[in-house]
Amino acid sequence: MSNPTPITVAYGDGIGPEIMEATLAILDAAGASLEKEVIRIGKEVYMAGHTSGIEESSWDSLRRTKVFLKAPITTPQGGGYKSLNVTIRKTLGLYANVRTCQSYHPFVQTKHPKMDLAIIRENEEDTYAGIEHRQTNDVYQCLKLITRPGSEKICRYAFEYARTHGRRKVSVMVKDNIMKMTDGIFHQVFKEIGEEYADIEKESWIIDIGTARLADTPEIFDVIVLPNLYGDILSDVAAQISGSVGLGGSANIGEHIAMFEAIHGSAPDIAGKGIANPSGLLLSAILMLNHIGQQDVATLVHNAWLKTIEEGIHTGDIFREATSRKRVGTAEFSEALISRLGQRPEILHPVDYKPERPQVEHDERPRTSPPRSKKDLVGVDVFVEWTGNADDLAARVQKATGGILKLILITNRGVKVWPAGNPETFTVDHWRLRFRTGDKDKPLVSHRTIIDLLTSFERAGIDFIKTEHLCNFDGKPGYSLGQGE
Ligand code: NAD
Repeated sequence: MSNPTPITVAYGDGIGPEIMEATLAILDAAGASLEKEVIRIGKEVYMAGHTSGIEESSWDSLRRTKVFLKAPITTPQGGGYKSLNVTIRKTLGLYANVRTCQSYHPFVQTKHPKMDLAIIRENEEDTYAGIEHRQTNDVYQCLKLITRPGSEKICRYAFEYARTHGRRKVSVMVKDNIMKMTDGIFHQVFKEIGEEYADIEKESWIIDIGTARLADTPEIFDVIVLPNLYGDILSDVAAQISGSVGLGGSANIGEHIAMFEAIHGSAPDIAGKGIANPSGLLLSAILMLNHIGQQDVATLVHNAWLKTIEEGIHTGDIFREATSRKRVGTAEFSEALISRLGQRPEILHPVDYKPERPQVEHDERPRTSPPRSKKDLVGVDVFVEWTGNADDLAARVQKATGGILKLILITNRGVKVWPAGNPETFTVDHWRLRFRTGDKDKPLVSHRTIIDLLTSFERAGIDFIKTEHLCNFDGKPGYSLGQGE
């Protein structure tokens, strides 16, 4: 056998140590060639004063091994602790979250016996960039950032995944009928990249109806690619309807490093009782074996797992009188599985990981980016905190700014309130004022003009809270038009 592959292992909190021990016992018995480096993460590290839940020295291990098998951890409530998962994903650039959801009917109860899909979720961008501000007394903002290179990476990953895993279709889910720019670029990039994959069927869904269809008829989906927030929600819906959240494994893939973990948490309610289902972590470990090129061991373990499940040897979370034969604890389940290494399922579909299968490409260089666009500054939106009405605000601002730029529109939560607003419109203390030159023949605005405009706000005591520049890119507006503009 070749040299053992170094991996970093964390036992985590709650049921973490129990399911990790069971998982590693199975991998060892199956002959996985691994050199394990154990790091500490989670509660005890948080409590020792590391608000990120991981010690500095652990990053060295992760950078060295580039493969992380992680048990769930308990995130302490409140107290400024940061989510370790988000920290790891962002620090290591794990841009793709891959979660497979399939039903194991009739052995695990589900209303969807034919379900078998993979969800590829963008993992770094969207509202999860974590850029939030309280802007006024009453208004809070979270920035949704979707980038062209980020969308390219994840869409390409999804198509490559489909191709290398013998899947026939990739569906994208977005809400670009409303978010025409952010979700719009994700959708646009999906179509551009999709053109390179003539062998794969493509389809697009609006996220709301797409989620409804997934909950109702998941068997019509194959691979689904989505931005971060939608993917977070959809992947839990998919795991739940497949029969058990406890059976879900996931991979977080980056250019250099990959992390494998179960989708469930540390289950403090059953910790230490020896009854937790190790399958989520084990299925994640199988994804890891495949990733590091030990497909023969992955096949051996996965088929023995399927055989154990179809023989009705079940932990309590999936035990049902009708379909189960024996209720077992964590260690007993792993022993039952080990004794079936070498066997294949008879009713469930056996798996066969192919050694020659190419790894999904991790070439991160965007390949479809058009040349940089010509950018022209043609106006500015100034946001102010104001507790009066729109007409008074307009009069005050026009007086203060004189002829520096022309006020053309005021909106409140995106609804036009000046000129000619509706008295019925509900307003809050957060107003957007749109300025342009007012001269069609001379539309360009300079940064200096915007500074002069803000200086006039300051002199008049108007509380401006932020600006957004209105730019045209190659002559096309790079901003949404105000309603009625
Ligand atoms: P949970 O997933 O830990 O538990 C939800 C329910 O599912 C519980 O009733 C639990 O007993 C059951 N369950 C979960 N995994 C199981 C398994 N393998 N076998 C049998 N039953 C299982 O979710 P929670 O209770 O919301 O969160 C508990 C803690 O886990 C929190 O501190 C949370 O922050 C953390 N968490 C960590 C991760 C992670 O590390 N990746 C993910 C989610 C939650």
